[in-house]
Amino acid sequence: METMDDFFEHMIQDIYSAEKQALESMPQLVKRVQSDQLRQALQVHQRESESQVTRLEQIAKQLGIDPDGEICMAMQGLIEEAQDLLDQLEDGPLADAAIIGAAQKMEHYEIASYGTARTLALQTGQEKVADLLETTLKEEKAADEKLTFIATHSVNQKAAQE
Ligand code: ZN
Ligand code: FE
Ligand code: FE
Ligand code: FE
Repeated sequence: METMDDFFEHMIQDIYSAEKQALESMPQLVKRVQSDQLRQALQVHQRESESQVTRLEQIAKQLGIDPDGEICMAMQGLIEEAQDLLDQLEDGPLADAAIIGAAQKMEHYEIASYGTARTLALQTGQEKVADLLETTLKEEKAADEKLTFIATHSVNQKAAQE
């Protein structure tokens, strides 16, 4: 890696790997969920994530790069940690609270990644790429806020009563 272009290519490949790992892990999280509201939120974001993968493929095409080639170790770790945690919990409000926490850690990683990539794209004059990244960034932020809402208005209260 020597130039800004190399670094940017690395970032796109990393987040592409992160998205695909997150998508793959989602059914395992969803099947442990008890709250209908939480299940629905995760399923909506799963569909959004499929569009996000497509957006990254569009970006890669525009830049003439291969989106594959990197494994996001951070997302791998977040998923592993979520699975370890869920292995220690019975299904119910407490597991729901843990799933929200795990999902929000994944969202925050994505928010940091897309925010950085969007800003670099803007500052290097790649406006179309920056727009695509910004669209995804907004979805990630909205997903994170929705999870906070579900936690504070419903799941955490039930978990505290256990
Ligand atoms: Zn993602
Ligand atoms: Fe995403
Ligand atoms: Fe990464
Ligand atoms: Fe996300």
